[in-house]
Amino acid sequence: MKAEIIAVGSELLLGQILNTNAQFLSKELAELGIDVYIQTVVGDNEERLADNLTRAINSSDLVILTGGLGPTKDDLTKETVAKVCGKSLEFNQEALTYITDYFERRKRHMTENNKKQAVVIEGSHVLANHFGMAPGMVVTVNDGLVALVPGPPKEMEPMFKNELKPFLLSKLQINTSITSRVLRFFNIGESQLETEIEDLIEQQSNPTIAPLAGDGEVTLRLTVKSPDSEEAKRKLDETEALITARVGQYLYGYNDTSLVEQLFLYLKKTNSTISVAESLTGGMFAMELTSLSGASEVFQGGTVAYATEVKENVLGVSKNVIEQYGVISKECAIEMAKGAKHLFKSDIAIGLTGVAGPGLQEEKEPGTVYIGIVGPEHQEQVFELSLGGGRHAVRERTIKYSCFYLLNEMKRWNLSE
Ligand code: ATP
Repeated sequence: MKAEIIAVGSELLLGQILNTNAQFLSKELAELGIDVYIQTVVGDNEERLADNLTRAINSSDLVILTGGLGPTKDDLTKETVAKVCGKSLEFNQEALTYITDYFERRKRHMTENNKKQAVVIEGSHVLANHFGMAPGMVVTVNDGLVALVPGPPKEMEPMFKNELKPFLLSKLQINTSITSRVLRFFNIGESQLETEIEDLIEQQSNPTIAPLAGDGEVTLRLTVKSPDSEEAKRKLDETEALITARVGQYLYGYNDTSLVEQLFLYLKKTNSTISVAESLTGGMFAMELTSLSGASEVFQGGTVAYATEVKENVLGVSKNVIEQYGVISKECAIEMAKGAKHLFKSDIAIGLTGVAGPGLQEEKEPGTVYIGIVGPEHQEQVFELSLGGGRHAVRERTIKYSCFYLLNEMKRWNLSE
């Protein structure tokens, strides 16, 4: 099954918006086992759209077009598809009622051009739009399918999931036996990870193992094809076990769970509370954690201790430590953590100090970071990092490393669940 995605819209070509629809659809189709061979972007131009569509129909079994279904003159996807496929356009009463209701509910005046959105291609399967007005549709051309979905992702994504995907599954008799599991790794580079498991990647065909790197993390997507869900799970477990036997110390989570979410879940699971004292990250750790709903169950509070006197006066970092080792030091990081634990009465605390850059500080290079951790039984651990990248990357990576080290320490402490 070969598919092609055509995104329609001049804003995409001008760089005003990013083609996230192509990414979303490619990912979804890959999960259905449909291979996307080509992604194209075409401006709001009938001739160029017709050329691309003709080529796509001739070479793919499924063509999905996004955008250009709206009421304005430059929205010409439906008209062009109808022309290329030799079909006419017809009013769809259901869509028209929906659009009329939409305006009535919002007490807004409906202009005549809105009716255009209730026009569909003759003989098409109509896809309802519950988040906007323009319906989607699927047309059968020769032996292939051409699907039209709206441009705005908040309309297109639910339409794909709730309307187009079930249609494709039944029409194409796709076996939904494809199961994926994503393993998330941190503190290991993509090349090192690949080297460690190169033979497994080469040998495995079911499940397949696909590495992907991004944002300082590496993921492995395991994809298994099996009609039996028990067997699929067993195969995924077996492959995961082969991988973790080699690089398990870097594995922190699964699927879409980020490091901070994983930390949050583990704090919750072990009924632990946490607080933070931040210098170079200026509150980012607290912000990340509190962006998760339910954070109040685990997060006691945090302090941004940027100036040296705040480290001393608020957190109680001793003058001695500051004079002897400086504020960019292991000793200061651990005292900051202890200060936060005392101040916020949490089980666990973390202290973050370092040089975000670009300049040196206390003769230390940008990217020098100290992460101090204090546990429920006053266990102490401190980590030193030499991070690359600019100021922003250093601060972001500090947060990720903090979560990763904290997770590892918490596991070592054997906290009861
Ligand atoms: P509408 O009913 O809103 O007119 P439409 O189907 O005509 O929908 P377009 O007019 O092509 O869609 O696009 C509307 C908006 O949707 C764009 O301004 C943009 O914000 C978003 N959009 C369109 N195409 C894409 C895309 N490929 N990726 C991400 N966003 C997109």
